[in-house]
Amino acid sequence: MKHADIGLIGLGTMGAALALNIADNGFDVAVWNRTTQVTHDFANNAGDLSVKVHATDTLADLVKAIAKPRAIILMVPAGSAVDEQIAALRPLLDPDDMIIDAGNANFHDTNRRAAEAGELPFLGIGVSGGEQGARFGPSIMGGGAREHWDRVAPILTAIAAKYNGIPCATWMGPQGAGHFVKAVHNGIEYADMQMIAEAYGMMRDGFGMDSEAIGTAFADWDKGTLKSYLTEISAKVAKAVDPETGLPMLEVIVDAAGQKGTGRWTAIEAQHLAAPIPAIEAAVVARNLSSQRDKRALGESIFGAAPQRVSGISLETLQAALIAGKILCYAQGFEMIGKASDQFGWKLPSPAIAEVWREGCIIRSEMLNDMASALTQDADRNLMFAPFFADLLKTHHGALRQVVAQAALNGIAMPALASGLAYFDAMRTARGTANMIQGQRDFFGAHGFERTDGRKDQHGPWAASA
Ligand code: NDP
Repeated sequence: MKHADIGLIGLGTMGAALALNIADNGFDVAVWNRTTQVTHDFANNAGDLSVKVHATDTLADLVKAIAKPRAIILMVPAGSAVDEQIAALRPLLDPDDMIIDAGNANFHDTNRRAAEAGELPFLGIGVSGGEQGARFGPSIMGGGAREHWDRVAPILTAIAAKYNGIPCATWMGPQGAGHFVKAVHNGIEYADMQMIAEAYGMMRDGFGMDSEAIGTAFADWDKGTLKSYLTEISAKVAKAVDPETGLPMLEVIVDAAGQKGTGRWTAIEAQHLAAPIPAIEAAVVARNLSSQRDKRALGESIFGAAPQRVSGISLETLQAALIAGKILCYAQGFEMIGKASDQFGWKLPSPAIAEVWREGCIIRSEMLNDMASALTQDADRNLMFAPFFADLLKTHHGALRQVVAQAALNGIAMPALASGLAYFDAMRTARGTANMIQGQRDFFGAHGFERTDGRKDQHGPWAASA
C-alpha cells in the first residue's frame, strides 16, 4: 500500500477540515483519532477524497502508514492533550520524524516543547481561519527550526489560503514564534471585533438605527478602506433575521461575549514585554465586562441608563473613526511583534506577517496589504508613522476624537476606540507627564530620575518640601 505523505491526529472540527484540505490538494493523509469510531466515520464520509485518506485504529498503525521521514500534525486541544500525544508518539517515531502542533498552543508551551524535543524535529504552527479556513485555505504561521519548516512547507503552502496566488503560510522564526504570532493575530482580532461592535453601538444607541440599516452601513463600509472579512460578516450578522421570532438576530443574541483565552494571553504577554497595546487590552477587558450581565443591570438600576442619543455625527464620521481606530489597533499589534523580536531574539518578519494575514485568517483585509507594503519599506517603524497610514491618521483622527467625545458625553461605552485615541494622543505628544511620576517615585522611594540636561540618577530637593 502507498504510504501517506503526512499523518494527522485529532479529527475534531479543525483536524477533520485540515485533513480534507490536505487530501484535496493531492496528498495522502493518514489519520487517527482517540475515539476510533470518529476515524471511521470521517473516512466513510470523505467522499471522493476517501482514496487519499488512510484511516488507522492505533497510533502504531498511524506511524506505519506514513512515508519516512514522517511528519504528523496534532490537532487536539491545547494544553495537556498535546503533551500526552507527544509522549505517546515519540517512542514510536524515528529520530528524524517530525511532530507538528497545529492547535492554539500558548507559545510558552511551544518554547518548552521545542526545548524538550532538542534535536528531534518539532514545529508549532498557528492555524487561523476557523473550520472554513482549515478546509479551504487557512493562514499558517510556522515556528521551529527553519530546516524542519522547509521539509513540510510544500504541503503547508499547498493547503494554505492564497492572496493573489501567494500562499499565506510562512515560517516566523524558531521555537514558539509561530504560536506567538498567532496569539498577536488573535489579540488584534479581539480589538478589531470590539471596535466594530462599538461602531454598532453608536449606530444603534447613538443614532437610533435599526439592525437592517446598520447592516447596510457595514456593507457600504466593506466597499472602501474598511473592506475586510470582519466588516463583511458584521453586515451579515446585522441583517440576519431570527427564523423563530422574525426579530433581527442581534435582538435575540445575549450581549455577553465568550473567549477561549488567546486574546487574554496576548494582553498578559504584552505586559511582560512592556509593549503598549491598550486597544487590545481594552477589547479583552470589554469581553470580561460583557459577561457581568447581572452587575451591569444592577448598575443601570442604580445610575439610570445613559441618555445615549448623539447629534452632529454622521455615518461618514463614524466610518472615518473606525478607520483610524483600526490603524491604531494594528500599529499596536505590530509594535508588540517588534518588542518580542528584540526580547526573544526571533527577528520576526513583520512584512511577511502582514502578508500572511491578508487571506485565510479572521482578520484578513485589504488594509493588511497596505500594511505589508508599509512594513516592507521600514519594518522597524511604528505603522502609524508610515507615510500611507500617517496620512490616513491625519485626515481621520479628528473623526475618532469626535466619536469618542460624543460617546463619552452621552454615556456610550467605547473602550477600544477611546484607548486607540489615547494611544494616538500619547504617541504624538513629545512632552508627556511622566516627569510627575518620576518626581513622585523619587519623593517616596528615592528611585532617581534623569534630568532634561541628560544627567542621570538625580534626586530632587524633597527634604526641603517634606
Ligand atoms: P474539537 O473539540 O472539535 O476536537 C478535538 C479533537 O481532539 C477531537 O478529535 C478529540 O478526539 C481530540 N482530543 C481531545 N482530547 C484529546 C486527548 N486528551 N488526547 C487525544 N486526542 C484528544 O477541537 P477543534 O478542532 O476546534 O480544535 C483543535 C485545536 O485547534 C485546538 O487547539 C483549538 O484551539 C485550535 N483551533 C481551533 C479553531 C476553531 O475555530 N475551532 C481555530 C484555530 C485553532 P475525540 O473525538 O476522541 O474527542
